[in-house]
Amino acid sequence: MNWDQCIGHRRQRAWFAAALNNHRLTGSFLFVGPPGIGKSTFATLLAKTLLCDTRRAAALDPCGRCPACAQVDADTHPDILRVAKPGERAFIPVELFVGKQEERMKVGFCRDIQLRPFAGTRRIGIIQDADYLNEEGANSLLKTLEEPPLGALIILIGTTAQRQLPTIRSRCRTIRFLPPTGEDAARLLAAHGAENIPATDAQRLIERCEGNVYQAMDLLQPEGQGFCEHLEKLLSAEVINAVTLSTLVNDYVTAAGKDAPSRRNRMRQVFSITLEFFRNRVRQQPSASEGVQPELNRINRCLTAMNQVDRNANQATLIESWSADLQRGSEVLL
Ligand SMILES: [Zn+2]
Repeated sequence: MNWDQCIGHRRQRAWFAAALNNHRLTGSFLFVGPPGIGKSTFATLLAKTLLCDTRRAAALDPCGRCPACAQVDADTHPDILRVAKPGERAFIPVELFVGKQEERMKVGFCRDIQLRPFAGTRRIGIIQDADYLNEEGANSLLKTLEEPPLGALIILIGTTAQRQLPTIRSRCRTIRFLPPTGEDAARLLAAHGAENIPATDAQRLIERCEGNVYQAMDLLQPEGQGFCEHLEKLLSAEVINAVTLSTLVNDYVTAAGKDAPSRRNRMRQVFSITLEFFRNRVRQQPSASEGVQPELNRINRCLTAMNQVDRNANQATLIESWSADLQRGSEVLL
């Protein structure tokens, strides 16, 4: 793996290159951006750059041939510490940071990051799923984030800064990653397995999914495509049929499976597609046209619905009231 496989994120690369040129890069970072756009790849490439035995880190061009580079590629480098949320858990267990009660600070990330580097000159910690740090896990990390051991680099990876606890946010430097546009959007979809999608279509698809590449891939499947066509047809009707709309959306969301986060993702996806649909309509209207007010109300309703998903609103109730409000299109009382 090398930097030419990092799609987009040129400003972030330039920032790290400059930081490495000016001083020794150390401390705690929070990488945020939609899922699937390459934050973890970026973090691993940065680790490889810092650990390469033969090239200057500031060149941002690890050799790819030395033992250190080979170990990073095989994910066996002893100086890279990784923490992620186990699939079945709701949060990252505190034990992964500081060990169980009876072995506190004898094992775990916070101890391991303090150890002398085994092979390289520094240790690098990569904490995935930072959105799933609960208060206890976060508290166990605070001191380490605030005063990382000399030379250590700690990277937390999450989706948005807002989803992180303020105590975490205030101790890290936040680096934002934006969804790719144009050719980069097409390259990213190709990297996820969807080849030959024209750049403008790829960009539009990723925008519709708020930058979430996994959702974009989902929409490229026959089920997703069929759903989109049906949805757009309903939204284009002179009068939106709230009952049909609500049934269509409920079935699509339920088909995501029993798992609540997957269903919430689908709900956000539907609201985001609908939002884009009405945004496009407003763009096509002559400016200051009075006729756009219902569309503006519908856009607002979609934004509110997305917030309600984040606050764990009941699926059926939310979809039903959203559908009814879209049908009305009048000022929505919330
Ligand atoms: Zn190397």
